[in-house]
Amino acid sequence: MENIKNIDTLKDILIDASIRPTYQRIKILDYLNQNHTHPTVDEIYISLCPYLPTLSKTTVYNTLNSFVKANIVSEIQIENTEIRYDLKSEPHGHFKCKECGKIFDFALGTKPLKSDDLTGFVIDTKNVYFSGTCPECQDK
Ligand SMILES: [Zn+2]
Ligand SMILES: [Zn+2]
Repeated sequence: MENIKNIDTLKDILIDASIRPTYQRIKILDYLNQNHTHPTVDEIYISLCPYLPTLSKTTVYNTLNSFVKANIVSEIQIENTEIRYDLKSEPHGHFKCKECGKIFDFALGTKPLKSDDLTGFVIDTKNVYFSGTCPECQDK
């Protein structure tokens, strides 16, 4: 899950998705590539601002939206107030620590998640979300 792609690979991902690989778009994708922290639009904007002085929050937002539509990035909504972004990798679940707010990825195993109750339904997204207290916060 943690494999970091190089800039050329990121460029190819954009080209394959018919997205013009502008410098800003590559930087935004690279941020998600290097930070598996499930950042929000604000976090990405604040981190990239020093390197991309012409960047606006709207651009970050629109760029992420186009990545989501192109299936390069997935949107995770854990609390209804915040949308976080995750570079697509194998399906995985998210655990949010209610103490420190950190989000941890966990593997879901190889068996596809499905339920006979949904026969005939078209499923677009699947989210596995757990919450609780991480080991570090339990020690406090
Ligand atoms: Zn914690
Ligand atoms: Zn994740």
